[in-house]
Amino acid sequence: MDTLVYMEQLKTHRLFYKTKYFVLGLIPLLCLCNCNTQVREDEYLVYTKAEKKYFMEALFYNGKTTKWNSTSLTFSIEGKFTPSQIEFIMNSLEFISALKGLPKFERVESNAKIRIHMPGSDKGFESSNSSDEKWRGFTTSKLGFLSRELILSEIFVKPTLTDLEVYTTLHHELLHALGLSGHPKSKFPFSSALGVRYFYTLEPEISPEIPEIDCKALMFLYNKKIPVKVAQTDVSILLGIK
Ligand SMILES: [Zn+2]
Repeated sequence: MDTLVYMEQLKTHRLFYKTKYFVLGLIPLLCLCNCNTQVREDEYLVYTKAEKKYFMEALFYNGKTTKWNSTSLTFSIEGKFTPSQIEFIMNSLEFISALKGLPKFERVESNAKIRIHMPGSDKGFESSNSSDEKWRGFTTSKLGFLSRELILSEIFVKPTLTDLEVYTTLHHELLHALGLSGHPKSKFPFSSALGVRYFYTLEPEISPEIPEIDCKALMFLYNKKIPVKVAQTDVSILLGIK
């Protein structure tokens, strides 16, 4: 299994990965089901140049894609989220569920595939990650060692944030939990939940609807013709990027 850790630093917003390989144990029955998938390239040339560039910066972890290989996913909301924050999570996941190709989400009390936590205190939050630095949130995801299929994602949100900070952090971490692993750094003509502009938004409030570019990136990733594991170079060819 491969464990990713995304941590959102309050000021510099860097991404950290921790990778652990376990040779023995859960090695899923691979990606053979997807190997014969034929993708018609011309279906993927409808994006603007900026959108394609965004995909190339958002979709990959160590040069390959990852995603859930399931049409339904369970999630749990744990810890001290307020009722309005819980409502925001529910509405955000309902919005994402409605996107073409995305899994349907079902809330459960335990053993969820996506676990969204808000520890009781900042101390509890900081002890949940291995860094001394201050973070707004982070996501740890486990992948199948060879299949790269997502197996479990856990989101942690710092408890002493404003509602707005909780909401932008939740959107950002939910995208990581669904497989958008990158932090696009280029200047884009749109705001995205993985980018700094959205993360530090000056808007008075944000809607549960994630930004349009992130909807497109998720629908691209979750298109049934895209295997779980695709190399960055193959996606660039698919998108017609030189
Ligand atoms: Zn991040």
